[in-house]
Amino acid sequence: KLASREFHPDNRVVSVRHIPIGGDAIQVIAGPCSVETPEQMIAAAAGAMAAGASLLRGGAFKPRTSPYSFQGMEENGLKYLVDAARPYGMPVVTELMDPRDIDLFLKYGVDVIQIGTRNMQNFRLLKEVGQLQVPVILKRGLSATIKEWLMAAEYIAAQGNLNIILAERGVRSFEPAYRNMLDVSAIPYLKRETHLPVIADPSHAGGAAWMVPALSLAAIAAGADGLMIECHPNPAQAWSDGEQALTPQELHALTRQVAAVAQAS
Ligand code: PEP
Ligand code: MN
Repeated sequence: KLASREFHPDNRVVSVRHIPIGGDAIQVIAGPCSVETPEQMIAAAAGAMAAGASLLRGGAFKPRTSPYSFQGMEENGLKYLVDAARPYGMPVVTELMDPRDIDLFLKYGVDVIQIGTRNMQNFRLLKEVGQLQVPVILKRGLSATIKEWLMAAEYIAAQGNLNIILAERGVRSFEPAYRNMLDVSAIPYLKRETHLPVIADPSHAGGAAWMVPALSLAAIAAGADGLMIECHPNPAQAWSDGEQALTPQELHALTRQVAAVAQAS
């Protein structure tokens, strides 16, 4: 298998422009759940940068459970995201839900294509991103086993794109007290089984801002190569996932703790 360590014994470093993911340094991807307005993204980019994040995230096409919920700013969202990141030279990460939007993603120069949980087994979508060389963050499916997740990565790799980053974002479990259960065990397991970088998304796992620091530090201690954290300049006013968003100040405090844990482990 192309994603297995047997095939490629050394850790793969996925380069996102000047940022190496999977090397010695921990990378933090931060930004709001949804791109909302140019002003919101300018504040989000400034906050993420000042907090020590190296990539900016923001969803322009949102996979919402309800069709009546905000669906994303679509093309304008890509524009606001890229425009906000440019002054800082930050690469951008955003979710692709439909192969028909690939040309738009390339036109705006999206640096990392996120395949969300709900599309982890959208095999046509996986094959299409496999035909690009753009790095892909492949999030774990809602209830996907590690084997299913790795076979989804294989769909991308088999088309020729090995720039794949696996993101553990919590799985459905029997426990309703928090949004999802962060599978910390998956991190060392994947680091052993594959050569691909592994990151964690503590925001969609915990579903509450107060839980994000603990889950982040656990993921780093377990060997994660980075974190994807939702951060909003004004969480109370966020158009989606506000309850799990950190403020830029909270993110700044967390990235210091992350650096300390990374140093110690
Ligand atoms: C997101 O990153 O905003 C998102 C929708 O994540 P997930 O696919 O993990 O639910
Ligand atoms: Mn979200």
